[in-house]
Amino acid sequence: MKRVYNFSAGPSVLPEVVLKRAAEEMFDYQGCGQSVMEMSHRSKVFEGIITGAESLLREIMNIPDNYKVLFLQGGASTQFAAIPLNLGNKNRKADYVLTGQWATKAYKEAARYLDANVVASSKDKTFSYIPKLDPDTFTKDADYFYICMNNTIYGTVYHDIPDTGDVPLVADISSCILSTPIDVSKFGILYAGAQKNMAPAGLVVAIIREDLIGNAMDICPTMLNFQTHADNGSMFNTPPCWTIYIAKLVLEWIKNDIGGLENMQKINEKKASILYNFLDSSNMFKGTVVPEDRSLMNVPFVTGNADLDAKFVKEATAHDFVNIKGHRTVGGMRASIYNAMPVEGVEKLVAFMKEFEAANS
Ligand SMILES: *Cc1c(COP(=O)(O)O)cnc(C)c1O
Repeated sequence: MKRVYNFSAGPSVLPEVVLKRAAEEMFDYQGCGQSVMEMSHRSKVFEGIITGAESLLREIMNIPDNYKVLFLQGGASTQFAAIPLNLGNKNRKADYVLTGQWATKAYKEAARYLDANVVASSKDKTFSYIPKLDPDTFTKDADYFYICMNNTIYGTVYHDIPDTGDVPLVADISSCILSTPIDVSKFGILYAGAQKNMAPAGLVVAIIREDLIGNAMDICPTMLNFQTHADNGSMFNTPPCWTIYIAKLVLEWIKNDIGGLENMQKINEKKASILYNFLDSSNMFKGTVVPEDRSLMNVPFVTGNADLDAKFVKEATAHDFVNIKGHRTVGGMRASIYNAMPVEGVEKLVAFMKEFEAANS
């Protein structure tokens, strides 16, 4: 059986031990004679899976007791509407920082329901940096302040969390959840689509401070109201059972095989530094992001020559480094090196880039 090195931005690589375990348990989950794909979400067996996934997430991320963990559907994109509909019912105002496509989509969706204010943007330089924020420009009576923590397409990340005082900070952490420790208590809401760093597509995990639940706008659909899911243990309707099960296996891998998020961060820093160090020393390849805002998870880079970029992508693919073409708005290449990408995958990619550089310069 062949496995490639998959640098996809999402859905993305999963740990091999998780895939093997899922394969072993496919026909008969722990002696119950059924697959997790087949069983009732109301069964005792599935209850063990969903409560197990939640308690592992709480333990690994050190989530305080006054936060609810919700397992939702509709992708991260559905939260772009759910957040203003749930949080914007007081003053109908929110602040947004535009650091890329996902933040901009969230802002545009929010603007349909409330007065959405752009505090800062890095669009002037193709989102290649995180704008410096001045708290004096923040809306004092905003219902929330919104950021996209790790910008999957552009490869930037906030190294400092903005201080928004009493205004709840909401962060999309789709492409960096579980990659480093994070102080949950600094946020009103953290949420993530699972398909980048946690599980297959189909699941969104939302971590919500309890006082932010229960004040949705009247027009908020029942299924988007956080209260609906908080009151029903994420089982108001059928949850994405299989994806929650894989998320539980991934969380077990982080806890037992990796040893928690401090260790996960060390491994991720090691992988990223191998790639960034090479980009900084290469005469052919260059990172597109300012060094101080570089992401540990998504690394865009270019040669500066579109034909050479295309040749690199083609040859890399032939050598089993797949899904490495950059997003069309940045061009070039992007290596997404999520938790499940082994160090060896990055080392081999860099070795291949060196060979390519030598052969083409
Ligand atoms: C992928 C991604 C999204 C969109 O996720 P969907 O689940 O496809 O809606 C939103 N935000 C970020 C940061 C992403 O990386």
